[in-house]
Amino acid sequence: MSIDIKPLAPAERKACPETFNFGENFADHMFIQAHDRVNGWKNAEIKPYQSISLDPSAAVLHYGQEIFEGMKAYRTKEGQINLFRPLDNFKRFNRSATRMVMPEVDENFHLDALKELVKLDNKWVPNQDGSSLYIRPTMIATGAKLGLGASDQYTHFIITGPAGAYFKDGFSPVSVYVADEYRRAVVGGVGEAKTGGNYAASLYMSEEVAKKGYSQVLWLDAIHGKYIEEVGAMNICFVYGDHIVTPKLSGSILPGITRDSILKLAPTLGYTVAEEQLDIDVILADIKSGKITEAFGCGTAAVISPVGQLCFKGEDYFINDNKAGEVSRNLYDELTGIQYGRREDKFGWIVKVDC
Ligand SMILES: *Cc1c(COP(=O)(O)O)cnc(C)c1O
Repeated sequence: MSIDIKPLAPAERKACPETFNFGENFADHMFIQAHDRVNGWKNAEIKPYQSISLDPSAAVLHYGQEIFEGMKAYRTKEGQINLFRPLDNFKRFNRSATRMVMPEVDENFHLDALKELVKLDNKWVPNQDGSSLYIRPTMIATGAKLGLGASDQYTHFIITGPAGAYFKDGFSPVSVYVADEYRRAVVGGVGEAKTGGNYAASLYMSEEVAKKGYSQVLWLDAIHGKYIEEVGAMNICFVYGDHIVTPKLSGSILPGITRDSILKLAPTLGYTVAEEQLDIDVILADIKSGKITEAFGCGTAAVISPVGQLCFKGEDYFINDNKAGEVSRNLYDELTGIQYGRREDKFGWIVKVDC
């Protein structure tokens, strides 16, 4: 299928602002295509960033049939643009689509569409240290029908916008509040799909936790309220010296590409890794005794986000004196090194965008 590209005239294009807040500025163009049962995917185009018109009865507005992805384009110091494991995002997009009874998108076509979009808006890939172009592929159910059922029409789009360096004040740890009463996802539910409802359901707790002065929520499993799952939009790892553990994928955890990259990369840096069921009481005891030497969250936004403090049932537990540790730092340097083209890409994770 071909993409109809309708670019703005060069004089109409905006300049990427020097300073920006994450998710509030968008590049000049967007990709969009539509799906219906008879024609499949059709009308693929890249056009100026603009509003989408929806019927007020569109299924996404009532029943939340929606999925998304989050990924980034990185500018190397030679000026090239790198994507990081984009086909893994598109495979996950299709797994989310299947779970939400939405049509799949051909992964290679999705990649071609993204490359065309980034190429056209290449001036929006910032070159300040640690910054990137954030990419948000999304699919929504647009069928105009209130009857509860899978929609018969969908819109898939990709929007992009600049993202600044995540750690403006240096590589500093975050504080995390362990959710005690509320749950994010249950095995058999939709926790492993990147679908809007998971995030809507987490907002109440995020607000509560922010009021208490913590920056992130750590979720426990919904059945026992005992096993560690993940942070709002990051997976979690605990470090015992040279050994890194992360919760195994239970069915209610989002399978992060950063998580997977760490599991593959860490052994090449001399660390051992394990995916296990992690009991919150054991983890807290190991933090208290000092067996746990570091903890960090991992996801596309921050790559690695050191965790310096956990609060559970009103008690605070400090990790590594609330300082970022060496393992977190090494993994961060190695992974961002690959993304920005400073380190050798031994795993073939980088896909270049020709501009
Ligand atoms: C997106 C996301 C992650 C991280 O996934 P990456 O592919 O590493 O960016 C982790 N947990 C949740 C709930 C997420 O939505």
